[in-house]
Amino acid sequence: MAKRDYYEILGVSKNATKDEIKKAYRKLALKYHPDKNPDDKDAETKFKEAAEAYEILGNEQKRAKYDQFGHQAFGAGGGFGGGAGGGMSMDDIFSQFGDIFGGAFGGGFGGGGGGARRRKGTNLRIKVKLTLEEIAEGCSKKVKVNKLVQAEGATYGTCGQCNGAGQVTRVMNTILGQMQTATTCPSCNGTGKTLSNRPKDADANGLKREEEVISIDIPAGVEEGMQLSLSGKGNAAPMGGIPGDLLVVIEEQEHPFLKRDGNNLHFDCYISFVDATLGGQVEVPLVNGKARIKIDPGTQSGKLLRLRGKGLPEINGYGRGDLIVNINVWTPQQLTDEEKSMLESLRESENFQPKPGNKDKGFFQRVKEMFG
Ligand SMILES: [Zn+2]
Repeated sequence: MAKRDYYEILGVSKNATKDEIKKAYRKLALKYHPDKNPDDKDAETKFKEAAEAYEILGNEQKRAKYDQFGHQAFGAGGGFGGGAGGGMSMDDIFSQFGDIFGGAFGGGFGGGGGGARRRKGTNLRIKVKLTLEEIAEGCSKKVKVNKLVQAEGATYGTCGQCNGAGQVTRVMNTILGQMQTATTCPSCNGTGKTLSNRPKDADANGLKREEEVISIDIPAGVEEGMQLSLSGKGNAAPMGGIPGDLLVVIEEQEHPFLKRDGNNLHFDCYISFVDATLGGQVEVPLVNGKARIKIDPGTQSGKLLRLRGKGLPEINGYGRGDLIVNINVWTPQQLTDEEKSMLESLRESENFQPKPGNKDKGFFQRVKEMFG
């Protein structure tokens, strides 16, 4: 099923402000909240859909990425471990609410944690270096991460001080009468839970460090600096909360011949003076393989040839860039006496006198026409 546009889901325009987006989401979250629509699958779907849309559009960086790359930016359908797309659990959604509804509403509302705030594990960030070939095809990478995981045998119980509410109420006598104030429970830090069995190797939260090998599916067409997010693959959360995310930052390895410019590739091709004059064929490298291209007789240095579709794929899966071949005519630097005298005899020939016409445009003009 095609994913709906996030703006459409929230019913806001593409240039909606942060506030408008927040408001629109708040309205939908209240309307489709499971507590209000028990056993209504349709409402639940809409509730999740809205939460997912807000998760992206409510975050400036994610929104910019979505505007640029669409759903593919987060790997929906691209085989990318449930980035933001579809992978949001009810817990994730309720943890979002603190931000949306303000502290007072945050915990109690939503019913997920019985009032307690569920703490999220911290995110992990790693860099992955890719060759141009890997970027062109998409690839699967195994990475080793050192992260916090729940220790085996760790069990959690309800916090005795707040009875799992995560908050404690204090009653103060003032001149206006009794006043109640609620504060985060100091004993459980608001999680509502305590560690009831702490294994030897676990810290006070029941966590330990472990090395884990994680396999990452990287979609074709990624770029230097792009960040992919694998939700739930980060550090485990204290007291059984939601694990953080694993953020994968893309680094590009330079290719020996091909230079990248967006989804286009550039290749500096040197042809001989004879091929340029008489015409011929030359071989150019592709990101995966080679191609032979025809050189027309009378080719000038600086000519640009475009090989359509031989660049890199768009990350959203639609279309590919081109390979731009920049022709340079190689002037021989060493000649035999015989070669010298052959060329010498041509020096005064009328055909060898430069006669640039309208067609022989300067470099900037050619570039402008190719990209303009
Ligand atoms: Zn407590």
